[in-house]
Amino acid sequence: MNVELVTIGDELLLGFVIDTNAAHIARTLADAGILVVQRATVADDPAAIVSALRGALDRTGGVLTTGGLGPTSDDLTIPSVAQLLGRRLELNEAVLAGIEERFRSYGYATMPVGNRQQAMLPEGARVLENHHGSAPGIFVEDERGRWVATLPGVPREMRGMLGDTLMPLLIERMERSGTPATVVRSRTLRTTGIGESALAEALGDLAKGFAGLPLAYNPKWQGTDLRLTVAGCSPAEADARLDEAAGRLLELCGRYVYGEGEDDLAAVVLESLRRRGSRLATAESCTGGLLGARITAIPGSSDVYAGGIVAYENTVKIRDLGVPDELIASQGAVSEAVARAMAEGVCRRFGTEVGVSITGVAGPGGGTEEKPVGTVWIAVVLNGEVTALGRKFVGDREEIRLRATQGALDLIRAGSGRRDAGRGNRE
Ligand code: ATP
Ligand code: MG
Repeated sequence: MNVELVTIGDELLLGFVIDTNAAHIARTLADAGILVVQRATVADDPAAIVSALRGALDRTGGVLTTGGLGPTSDDLTIPSVAQLLGRRLELNEAVLAGIEERFRSYGYATMPVGNRQQAMLPEGARVLENHHGSAPGIFVEDERGRWVATLPGVPREMRGMLGDTLMPLLIERMERSGTPATVVRSRTLRTTGIGESALAEALGDLAKGFAGLPLAYNPKWQGTDLRLTVAGCSPAEADARLDEAAGRLLELCGRYVYGEGEDDLAAVVLESLRRRGSRLATAESCTGGLLGARITAIPGSSDVYAGGIVAYENTVKIRDLGVPDELIASQGAVSEAVARAMAEGVCRRFGTEVGVSITGVAGPGGGTEEKPVGTVWIAVVLNGEVTALGRKFVGDREEIRLRATQGALDLIRAGSGRRDAGRGNRE
């Protein structure tokens, strides 16, 4: 089934709010075999809302909206839908009672007058309950079976209503109309430490896709995510085809793959160190604690992570990590020798078996011909050996720092046993 999507709000058009609702809705619908074929964003303006909805109904016959369901004067979605379909607004007593009850449960003696507006619904509309806020949504059909469904703008409320109420309704509708239950499903393999084009080269004939499954490259600071998508088949067939394609991809580039979906390399590395019973310490210069922050953001990191030192100034590298000052003088703070000495120093300091260091030029200033902005040295002490890696990262200061943390984690991963090929990483 095809649908359209209209997200409503001045803030979206002005760019103050990023339209994450549209992405969430498209992905959720796709998983049930419903495709968003066109989408638009319009202002909090009845004429604009009506015109966008009319176009969507004429083209596609089904449209979802988000936003503008609230109690304030800029919340105009429901009256616009009523106008479009030529329906009167009538008070829905059950909805009103629900909203009043909600306010009582918050400890208010009376409901603000503005909220009464949220119980004024077009005649013939079905109510989509909101378990996370006061504004109900509606599902309303015209005499030709074309329909509009309205969801709230607040992402948490929207997600709740979509999952709890609207999806079951749309799926039932598809089944009733005899549309076969097909899905659009994706699987994402997360790679790091290899450029997008080198990855395409490694994949050879598969670079464009696998047996009819398109392969998308999604470069991010974490690395390049490879996304396989399958559409138009049953859920079981979709999963089988994705398994097969993901298996082939892993054969070709498995050494660069650290996880699937939303997996975080920090969590993957912590888990592999945990399995070995190793403890980790960090010594950071240009990342200023960003690596430690990523590690400690993972729940349960304390049984692996001992701590770290932010050695920004050279005197701190010398005093707290025992880096010989002549090394800094002869090689410079951003050098392989200093990175190695930092990693060894932090292991000594914290008494850990594993240590990792980062020293680099994050920019925008401070680059030289020999060590341009983006030059980063990373070293890891693991298995009683020191491994160092020089990288030249691209991007602005923020990206270089983030990429450096990812590079450091990947160097630990390389030494601590890579992800088992073919193993799902979604538990
Ligand atoms: P409320 O009852 O709070 O007024 P509403 O259904 O009227 O909710 P809006 O007023 O349009 O929704 O938006 C409420 C908030 O939800 C916005 O300030 C914004 O932070 C967020 N929001 C709205 N639309 C989107 C969107 N498409 N993507 C992400 N966030 C959104
Ligand atoms: Mg609002």
